[in-house]
Amino acid sequence: MRFEIVAVGTELLLGQIADTNSQWLGEQLAAIGVASHFHQAVGDNHERMVLAFRTALARSDGIIVCGGLGPTHDDITREALAEVMNVDLVRDDAVVARIREMFTSRGRDMPESNLRQADVPRGASLIPQTMGTAPGLVCPVGQKVAYAVPGVPYEMADMFTRAIAPDLLERMRQRGETSGVIASRVIRTWGMSESGLGEALQSHIDDLDAAARAGAPGTATIALLASGIEGIKVRVTVRAEDELATRSLLDAEEAEVRHILQEVAGDVVFGIDDDAIENAVARVMIDHGLTLGLAESLTGGLAASRLVNVPGASRWFRGSLVSYASEVKFDVLGLPDGPVVTASAARQMAEGAQRLLGSDVGLSITGVAGPDPQDDQPPGTVFVGLARPGRESEAHRFSLPGDRNRVRQYSTISALDLLRRSLS
Ligand code: ATP
Ligand code: MG
Repeated sequence: MRFEIVAVGTELLLGQIADTNSQWLGEQLAAIGVASHFHQAVGDNHERMVLAFRTALARSDGIIVCGGLGPTHDDITREALAEVMNVDLVRDDAVVARIREMFTSRGRDMPESNLRQADVPRGASLIPQTMGTAPGLVCPVGQKVAYAVPGVPYEMADMFTRAIAPDLLERMRQRGETSGVIASRVIRTWGMSESGLGEALQSHIDDLDAAARAGAPGTATIALLASGIEGIKVRVTVRAEDELATRSLLDAEEAEVRHILQEVAGDVVFGIDDDAIENAVARVMIDHGLTLGLAESLTGGLAASRLVNVPGASRWFRGSLVSYASEVKFDVLGLPDGPVVTASAARQMAEGAQRLLGSDVGLSITGVAGPDPQDDQPPGTVFVGLARPGRESEAHRFSLPGDRNRVRQYSTISALDLLRRSLS
């Protein structure tokens, strides 16, 4: 079954709010195996709404309209749906009573315009309202259906879960469609370019495409999403009979992708789904029973701030010395007078953090955020120092792209990734 989401509201078109309803609904439809080939957004204009609904109904088995069910004059979803259904609006007495009662119970006068929310296209049934005032609508249009829900995200989500999803599943059952399930998983990487990842995975992606074309029962697709300072994400999407089957397909795909990337580029995968780099660092620190101290220069505490995102970080994270001015590096961390954007400065900063913070591991970040060069180094030059127990301390040089803010963000994730890999 194929469904189209139509989001109503001029504010969506003006970019004043993001259409998170369509995003949420898209995810929900996919999860119950309903295909969705188009999304539309349309302003609060009667003719254009009618056109949008008709267009969507012509190419789908049904539509979900969100927004425009409220009491104000620009909430005209009811009227547009009535026109598409070719019926008139009838005022529903039970809804009128409920709206009046709500105002009375709050001791407020009811503006007459509120009763518009009790207008129902003839032949439509209601999705009862539990939170706001406007009920949702289930409108038959020939053999197809148009659901309408309010734009307020929690009301929309409540009505979808309570009424629309069960109704959709029942319709699929009646059509004899097994409701296949779509699920996806994100494999998060750092340290490899998007084109490098693409090349590494290309022959596997080709194999998956060929299997899908040949009509294999469980299918998978792979997409790469460059996510800036969050790294590059490899998103695997699978379709299978039920949730259990999607999970085992996802497990198999994840293992395959990890294997391929490991062969080509080493340990570039740091997490899955919402797993951020700081979680990966937390895991290795806890696994090794080690504590960490930082000395940060250009990142000004960004690395520490990310690490303390992890609940319970105090078990392994001692703290960070924000040694921004060179004098602080000399006077507090004990660096000798001289340039501070060098490999040896980074090593000594890491050792200083280790010593002053009493941690097993010291990690440091020093570099040039820009816009001006420093110590003859161009912006984007960053050294990360690492001091580990029973080993020579070391330093790694990075040349990072972007403006001041991006250089600082990239420095942070590069340093945390280096730490994670060194201890893995
Ligand atoms: P109300 O009864 O509150 O007037 P409504 O059905 O008329 O609800 P709208 O007036 O279109 O809905 O939107 C109400 C609010 O819901 C908007 O101001 C906006 O904050 C939010 N909203 C509407 N549409 C969306 C959307 N597609 N994605 C995210 N939020 C939305
Ligand atoms: Mg409104």
